[in-house]
Amino acid sequence: MTQTVAVVGAGITGLTAACDLLASGCGVTLFESAPYAGGLAFDIPCGAGRVEAFYRHIFTSDTHIRDLAAELGLADAIRWFAPDNAVALPGASGNATNLYPFTTPGDLLRFSPLSLPGRIRLGLSVLGAKRVRDWRALEGETAREWVLRTAGRDVWRTVWEPLMRSKFDDDADSVSAVWLWNKLALRGHTRSSGMKSELLGYMDGGFGRLVDALTERIRTLGGRIETGTAVERIDADPETGAPSLTVSSPATEPQTLRFDRALWTAAPALLADAAPSLPSESLEKLRGVRYKGNLCALLELSRPLTPHYWISVADPDIPFVALIEHTNLVGAEAYGRHIVYLSRYIDAADPLFSAPDDEILRRFKAVLPRFAPDFDATAILAARVTRARYAQPVIPCGYSGRIPPFDPVPGKAVFLASMPQIYPEDRGMNYAVRLGREAARKILSPEAIR
Ligand SMILES: Cc1cc2nc3c(=O)[nH]c(=O)nc-3n(C[C@H](O)[C@H](O)[C@H](O)COP(=O)(O)OP(=O)(O)OC[C@H]3O[C@@H](n4cnc5c(N)ncnc54)[C@H](O)[C@@H]3O)c2cc1C
Repeated sequence: MTQTVAVVGAGITGLTAACDLLASGCGVTLFESAPYAGGLAFDIPCGAGRVEAFYRHIFTSDTHIRDLAAELGLADAIRWFAPDNAVALPGASGNATNLYPFTTPGDLLRFSPLSLPGRIRLGLSVLGAKRVRDWRALEGETAREWVLRTAGRDVWRTVWEPLMRSKFDDDADSVSAVWLWNKLALRGHTRSSGMKSELLGYMDGGFGRLVDALTERIRTLGGRIETGTAVERIDADPETGAPSLTVSSPATEPQTLRFDRALWTAAPALLADAAPSLPSESLEKLRGVRYKGNLCALLELSRPLTPHYWISVADPDIPFVALIEHTNLVGAEAYGRHIVYLSRYIDAADPLFSAPDDEILRRFKAVLPRFAPDFDATAILAARVTRARYAQPVIPCGYSGRIPPFDPVPGKAVFLASMPQIYPEDRGMNYAVRLGREAARKILSPEAIR
């Protein structure tokens, strides 16, 4: 008999899992609380084209998403670009910010905020990260301790501390060395030969095309996608373990639907909220993963702002932590305008996270002259703010013992495939594809339900 599976969340993980489950003969219904599919990879109209609400690129090593794109007939749509990166640090006078090119090994050698020995130690520690054979050896150490040990205080203070703060805010000092190691090792492997340039991939027309192709395939295979429909509660049948989902949408009364299996792809803590009758150890593990939120302003401009693609901002006076000029990577032709993202990782409890959009834009725009002294606010054609409450899992020391399991209740029919399970890799669309595929495989395996 056909197995029925409810997939909760139509982000890349849920969409990929749904496709594979359908291809294996399951009946699948996807529930997505937002009015659109794509999750964090959703896109919006922008000028003459469409663009992601949260900036986006992939790495050459992202084979899972590249393979999926190929299966969906989109292999040729991915184009590769050499990025131009920079770091912004506080300048000598009160409200100045200095930009330092930070793309090539030569840029590192010329990086004057660090002493020459500091630059050499930074370079050697980055190369050393690539050679770490077993990341488990780093599990007991924080990123801070690791940098202090391998590169010294100057390198931590000048480079890594501001960058770690920019991503993890107050949690920067407690983030595991494994997280930073993974970033360094990944970037090391995505450089083309000669270590001169890294290549970043972007899909012509945006990754929204991948989301569209996945949703189309799901429908073609007979799956259903219920957008604007939140799963409020999951109860398991006491005898069979089969899940009943209570779902609600603005248009309909809440209803309860029964499936053979359910796959939860949103944040683990949300599963704990929806399934409070899970055993307390499971609830504890699901609620134990902390996240940073993200505030992202997208500016559409009539002219370029800077010459760089990615500026990591390590200046505490600037209210965002990265300035990403998307059109400096992929060109402005498709949009007829220039696109700049201003991104801030932030605790969802911070009042700025829920401040009115106008207030956020006012604060973000006020510092743009630091990046382009001749900046003129009339160049802004449109601006919008997007928030994500569950944007970046915080990975502490010893995280491998805390990862929420695929089967929060062993032997039962509710499964979890969520960003914080990607460890030791960090989140990313590539790993969402891998996770979705793994989840579909495991759900279909005879061991999934005992
Ligand atoms: C600012 C930012 C920049 C990024 N940049 C990149 C990048 O350059 N390259 C890259 O590869 N990755 C990037 N990522 C990461 C990437 O977007 C994610 O790793 C990936 O999209 C996660 O997909 P997912 O399906 O696992 O989760 P999500 O996209 O979070 O999907 C989960 C879905 O579940 C839905 N949901 C939640 N609760 C319920 C409920 N009760 N009922 C029904 N539905 C529910 C949510 O609405 C959401 O759509 C970025 C992320 C952020 C935040």
